[in-house]
Amino acid sequence: RSRSVTTRAANQERSYVMVKPDGVQRGLVGKIISRFERKGFYLKGLKMFNCPEDIAKEHYKDLSSKPFFPDLVEYICSGPVICMIWEGKGVVKSARKLIGATNPLESEPGTIRGDFAVEVGRNVIHGSDSDENGEREIGIWFSSGEGTAEWTPHMEPWLREIG
Ligand code: UDP
Ligand code: MG
Repeated sequence: RSRSVTTRAANQERSYVMVKPDGVQRGLVGKIISRFERKGFYLKGLKMFNCPEDIAKEHYKDLSSKPFFPDLVEYICSGPVICMIWEGKGVVKSARKLIGATNPLESEPGTIRGDFAVEVGRNVIHGSDSDENGEREIGIWFSSGEGTAEWTPHMEPWLREIG
């Protein structure tokens, strides 16, 4: 059972990133994982999961009054998702940049949504919007600790100016 699931390591920032069902069906999982790896983030949690409705509703609870909420929950539960924890310096903000704007027609080319999607309701990927929400979402999707493992990234000195 990994310590990092419930409490994040000191000085480490984590984001909850998820390939949505359309991304899985379209065969984009490998390409998406590559973008986070090549940037220099560390994969600390990974699992495939058929999302039950209650998890989707909890994850998106801030949007529960929005008109698109029922369709959003149906979409997230429409097929397996890939749940991930990415760790590293500035990962929450950086992941949002790699992902691109919510509406894929407004996402810049070079971003995941900008390159792979056209519709807000089929926008391929989720990324936490704050450090606080990152920890909250990791708690929701990785509550059992399954899919996580603690490991020391040995390329850290080649990515970070720290001793
Ligand atoms: N969404 C939608 N219609 C909208 C706005 C959002 O279907 O008009 C969906 C979309 O899948 C989006 C998710 O709801 O990714 C969460 O919305 P949020 O505003 O948090 O965008 P995100 O943080 O994913 O960029
Ligand atoms: Mg959001």
